Amino acid sequence: MPAIILPMPDWRAMRPETMLQHLGEDDHVLGAVVPPIFQNSLFVFDTWEEFRAAMEQQSDPSIPASRCIYSRMNNPTLDLVGQKLAALEGAECGRFFASGMAAISATVMACTKSGSHVVCVDTCYGPTRAFLKDYMPKFGVETTFVVGNDPKEIFDACKPNTSLIYLESPSSIIFHLQDLGAIAKFAKEKRIRTAIDNSYSSAILQRPAEFSIDYSVSTATKYFGGHSDLVAGSVACSKELMAEMIANEGQYLGAPLGPFQCWLVLRSMRTMHLRLRQHAETANKVAAWVREQPWCEHVYHVGLDDFPQWALRDKQMSGPGGLFSFMPKEQDPARLQAFTQALQIYQLGVSWGGFESLCVPLEFHPMDWPEKKWLVRLFNGLEHADDLIADIEQAVKVCGLRT
Ligand SMILES: *Cc1c(COP(=O)(O)O)cnc(C)c1O
Repeated sequence: MPAIILPMPDWRAMRPETMLQHLGEDDHVLGAVVPPIFQNSLFVFDTWEEFRAAMEQQSDPSIPASRCIYSRMNNPTLDLVGQKLAALEGAECGRFFASGMAAISATVMACTKSGSHVVCVDTCYGPTRAFLKDYMPKFGVETTFVVGNDPKEIFDACKPNTSLIYLESPSSIIFHLQDLGAIAKFAKEKRIRTAIDNSYSSAILQRPAEFSIDYSVSTATKYFGGHSDLVAGSVACSKELMAEMIANEGQYLGAPLGPFQCWLVLRSMRTMHLRLRQHAETANKVAAWVREQPWCEHVYHVGLDDFPQWALRDKQMSGPGGLFSFMPKEQDPARLQAFTQALQIYQLGVSWGGFESLCVPLEFHPMDWPEKKWLVRLFNGLEHADDLIADIEQAVKVCGLRT
């Protein structure tokens, strides 16, 4: 019988769960079911012609390089996770960076020059805010911060020299949303680029490319890594913007994710959709319980039925994630610190997105609040929701929060 030649499956067209397991992995090097790590800095050539052809290769960043040259620019392991990221984000191209901040700073620098103006959401990730407010002015780039819930406030903040609208939706700590479609439409008309920090959703819960946002950036330290054992970041955008970014920020700032970290991300991406579903289920249960407690003033959680921006949430996102914050009636920091230390499962620490539950009390002052307030942010890990609730209950008993 003649051999039947089947076409290669189109993994990109399949659902994220299927795509994450197989896209870019058809090669099966030496039959290995898991792709090898290309742990090398450079690539060698047998002939001068091959070397020159690789150097002259007009690289299309949406397809893996046929021959890599140097791992600051390309590496097969870096390319593989970038392909998966692009498919997950519904974007043409994806690339991993050495940290979320490396991805964010590269994106901001790609969209600004001396004399540019940026409009940015006030409750964005702290170091992003500081980068725009304190660091970029030394290159002549100024930023206006906005609450961002009302797109009109963003439009009004734009000036003739605005070159970037930088969003974070849901934003950090209190999870404000921005109307991605309306903002992208306005920005396209004004020829302003748009970027979003998509870390909360990490491409599983929200695909900004579908709303015509130019760049989706994420920390990959959180859900992409998923095990609190690596630091990484990601950018997804069009071919044109990625080619520009690789040639400039990729080349000059030079912060690609290393091959071993890429391979760890590859491993973790296989279970991302499962982990996110579980984190959300647990966060919903714990947040609903916290909301009913007499010591709780307010819960900030995207997944609650009374989330104020529920209509926008349902339009842009497929669901909530594992993070939420609450405002305790108790505003004495010493007592909140005692509460945090009395917790036995939730550990005191920054970051989130791993297997373990985390708690951090923080003083927060968004621009539309009259005064600073103490909030407690909880990341709900992969432990059982009932054990997490019991942990909070016992910690409240030990330290006696004001009701
Ligand atoms: C952690 C975080 C970042 C920064 O990512 P790193 O990988 O730590 O550099 C950016 N944005 C958000 C929303 C984050 O939570």
